[in-house]
Amino acid sequence: MVSSEYERRIAARFAGFDQDGNGYIDREDFSAAAKGLLAEFGTTARSDKGQALYAGAEAFWQGMAGIADRDGDQRITRDEFVNGAVKRLRDNPERFAEIARPFLHAALDVAGKGGDGTVSVEDTARVIRILGVPEEIALAAAASLDGDGDGKVGEAEIVPAFARYFTVPE
Ligand code: CA
Ligand code: CA
Ligand code: CA
Repeated sequence: MVSSEYERRIAARFAGFDQDGNGYIDREDFSAAAKGLLAEFGTTARSDKGQALYAGAEAFWQGMAGIADRDGDQRITRDEFVNGAVKRLRDNPERFAEIARPFLHAALDVAGKGGDGTVSVEDTARVIRILGVPEEIALAAAASLDGDGDGKVGEAEIVPAFARYFTVPE
């Protein structure tokens, strides 16, 4: 039996991907997320970090479309998301991690100040808020990503957590 809590979480994940709120996920939503991150951290699209982020966003979109866009119209509807993406990615979270990793790697580069691929918990909260995690839980979510408690979040911490969040265990 599908619980209403599960339905609610699925709806929240869909809304996170559907950045412009037009009812489907498409390439524009991924480039909007990249644009939002660059604006948040004062990075230009032309910079190396900006270009890497857009390339990661495009790869993320292509990967999601390959999994979920069953009719090939370059849009992922809510039905395609629930019955394609969520089910298939839940069975194979490593696949989602592979798809999301280049984008997340580039996002950490944009947000990180030390150049060591890690980001403070506060700045991680800014990143995940832009990626659709609700404002009120973003800081707690970012803190929970810091598995080793050193106050910073790195790729090895964010990628699997992001996959868990978006694949929505029942
Ligand atoms: Ca959209
Ligand atoms: Ca479609
Ligand atoms: Ca850490």
